[in-house]
Amino acid sequence: MSTPLLKRAYSDELFKQEGNELIQLLSDHLSSHIGEKTDKVIEWSTPNDEYEFWEQFAKEKHSTKNLFETILNRSIATHNPKYIGHQISPTVPVSGLATLLSAMLNNGMAVYEMGAAATAIEKLVVNEFTKAIGYNDNADGFLTSGGTLANLTALIAARKSVAKDDVWNDGHTNKLAVLVSEEAHYCIDRAARIMGLGDGGIIKVPVNENFKINTSQLETAYNNAKNNGYEVIAVVGSAPSTSSGVHDDLEALAEFAQQKNIWFHVDGAHGGAAVFSSKYKYLLNGIEQADSVAIDGHKMMATSSITTALLFKRSNDTYTTFSQKAHYLWDKNDDLEWYNLAKRTFECTKSMMSIRFFSIINAYGTQFFDDYVTTLYDLGKTFADIIESNEEFELAMQPETNILCFRVKGDLDSEEIGNINQQIRRQLLEDGEFYIVSTYLKGVFYLRVTIMNVFTNESHFKALLNKIISIKNNSSINV
Ligand SMILES: *Cc1c(COP(=O)(O)O)cnc(C)c1O
Repeated sequence: MSTPLLKRAYSDELFKQEGNELIQLLSDHLSSHIGEKTDKVIEWSTPNDEYEFWEQFAKEKHSTKNLFETILNRSIATHNPKYIGHQISPTVPVSGLATLLSAMLNNGMAVYEMGAAATAIEKLVVNEFTKAIGYNDNADGFLTSGGTLANLTALIAARKSVAKDDVWNDGHTNKLAVLVSEEAHYCIDRAARIMGLGDGGIIKVPVNENFKINTSQLETAYNNAKNNGYEVIAVVGSAPSTSSGVHDDLEALAEFAQQKNIWFHVDGAHGGAAVFSSKYKYLLNGIEQADSVAIDGHKMMATSSITTALLFKRSNDTYTTFSQKAHYLWDKNDDLEWYNLAKRTFECTKSMMSIRFFSIINAYGTQFFDDYVTTLYDLGKTFADIIESNEEFELAMQPETNILCFRVKGDLDSEEIGNINQQIRRQLLEDGEFYIVSTYLKGVFYLRVTIMNVFTNESHFKALLNKIISIKNNSSINV
């Protein structure tokens, strides 16, 4: 028997009222941030202060509207043009609405019956990706929960396809290894460890002076691994690497992989979306030779998180990765049923992420992705020019994308300059007008930005640099 409380919780009238209030709040949020009627991207508080706030909040009685509004006001605003920090996109509204739809429908997607529309749409979306990559008709793929999981899945597929032993069924007998740039995202290292490759199985190839994997060292790294008893199964290219935003030479990696008969995976979590950019697609030359490619929607394609495409050159590889029996889900284990997605994905239940992409394609075409990526990469160049023309700053390298690393320079030793830049980053965070991040490149501390908002422009970049200079001048920081 349903209770009065349950009836109220599921009331369509209440949903309509609270839903309308939420849409109004979000619409005001968009107008206030994109329209720059607010002067803060982030209202900084320490983790403990924030916890105390919510501890107190939980003791009081609040309407749902009040709860939502309070969350909005106490969260970082990715839609603000002065948000230039991590690689998360400000969700494009139509995709946000699609996410709300999927949240309410809660179709499980593991089997066709639990998500008919979104499953068929997923196939359409995958086709758009494989076409843009330049794969032939044999290509395939699926959507999965994040770049981290996509990279792990791709490496498991690589092991299945390349390793001499059947590790999936028999466990490890041989020592396996993957080759990856020392600048690769930490999740590749994590994936390899999850797969039991161990420290020795993650071979970090040094980068050259441009922060790209040094392809002239691949052969040596490969031979050393072999001499130490490892079977190398894959090489991973970063497109681009997270910290520096520069791309590995995918063509050279493809050639090397082919020569050695190993798997070539492209981690395009950030920049893989540039396959849709007519202007910047060239940065990904060679991607069409990859055995697998991971591309995040929630980074450079403006979907909500987490939404990732994992594409394979050969359809069959999508089916063999997790070959397993699960009779309560499907009767025939050996059929290549494209529509029973859990046969191919790491997840069992997964969200209806295909509609986050498709709502955009439906409304604006794939041209939206071209406009989005191209605009942001162009802005990377704009900001680089502004930094270069200001003698107080230096760039770590010329940007290839919307990721830039730079720092305040001065006549001090590198460590002191590092300290100054660290203090600047901290004060910017506490101030809250701008949001930028930081990184270490070859042990050197840099301020780092990812331009994620297509409404960020030259005046914001100049204002940021002015703010940094005034923080430097007004504080105890001495240069
Ligand atoms: C962000 C990123 C990842 C991780 O992706 P998630 O979607 O955050 O799990 C992996 N690789 C690269 C190059 C990235 O930039």
